[in-house]
Amino acid sequence: MRKNPRLEINLRKLQQNVATVFNLCAAKGVEVVGVTKGFAALPEIAQVMVDGGIKILGDSRLENILTLRDAGIKAKMMLLRIPMLHEVDLVVKLADCSLNSELVVIKGLSTSAIKQKKIHNIILMVDLGDLREGVLPEDVFSLVKEIRHLTGVRLKGLGVNFNCISGVDPTPEKLLQLVSLATKIERNLGVKLEILSGGNTSSLALVINDTLPEQINQLRIGEGILLGHTDIFTEIKGAFQDSITLFAEIIELKQKESTPSGSISRDSFGQIPKIKAKGVRTRAILAIGKQDIYPDNLVPLDQDITIVAASSDHLVVDVTESKTSFKVGDEIQFILTYPGILSAITSKYVKVYTD
Ligand SMILES: *Cc1c(COP(=O)(O)O)cnc(C)c1O
Repeated sequence: MRKNPRLEINLRKLQQNVATVFNLCAAKGVEVVGVTKGFAALPEIAQVMVDGGIKILGDSRLENILTLRDAGIKAKMMLLRIPMLHEVDLVVKLADCSLNSELVVIKGLSTSAIKQKKIHNIILMVDLGDLREGVLPEDVFSLVKEIRHLTGVRLKGLGVNFNCISGVDPTPEKLLQLVSLATKIERNLGVKLEILSGGNTSSLALVINDTLPEQINQLRIGEGILLGHTDIFTEIKGAFQDSITLFAEIIELKQKESTPSGSISRDSFGQIPKIKAKGVRTRAILAIGKQDIYPDNLVPLDQDITIVAASSDHLVVDVTESKTSFKVGDEIQFILTYPGILSAITSKYVKVYTD
């Protein structure tokens, strides 16, 4: 008997997703960095990425990179989140490459690398409008001039990120801006920029519709592999969208009025609930809650089930329309969004099974 709540991870489906994404990119000369942060760097999934031909794994957190190293995963490691100034020694020790945007940190990495008798590779992030990390385009040139003098780091290339906090989409025009910055730097500073890292899963859409500028030779992909899509509306042909599913158990099953009785103020999370009157419904309470995953990140696999609400430890679903006749103790299965996988897999209450 498997415990619940639990995530079931189908490695065979993920293997197919890795192959699909890898082949799409390989056909366009694009190297895939397999991003592991979405699944807390679970070594079994990372191994599927490596077995599928991926040579570099990327994660935002050093703890996760350490997990991969400890598990003996044979790949180069890229730190995706720009490093904390206080962690530069560990970055140099654990990661082969990091994404950067602050000179003081890059200087710290260089000093630390010299101490450790290493050369640390860096990619300089350029902000092309999404307004998360990155140097503004007009500041890149002067920063590269400074980096040139640092002997502990090697500038491998430029990178960019899209759709992270402002929803700015990657476009051929934006990526050509990165290309032209790189060309200008190579011409005027005599620096060779081997890598143009053109974004995350959202940039995969440009690979698929064949509009990715040919100079872009790397993408950093997590979501596309896990969920088989380039965004929530666009599936990748040949990839699975349900490689990872969540099971939770019914602890109460009762017919109840859909409108609450009494005077209404706020729920346990300080929100005023909006409730539609639907008469008497069959409601199931599942033993999982916001502490593990927010309900907007769950989609019942049975399309006749709808999510009503959740509190910290309870998820209420409406099973009135379902063709299955449920009883207490039964499980209900869900697919998850990308943030949903991330939060469920980092909840210590959710077990993880790989098949
Ligand atoms: C998370 C992250 C990625 C991967 O994003 P996905 O949407 O999972 O493909 C790539 N680059 C950076 C800098 C990231 O933080």
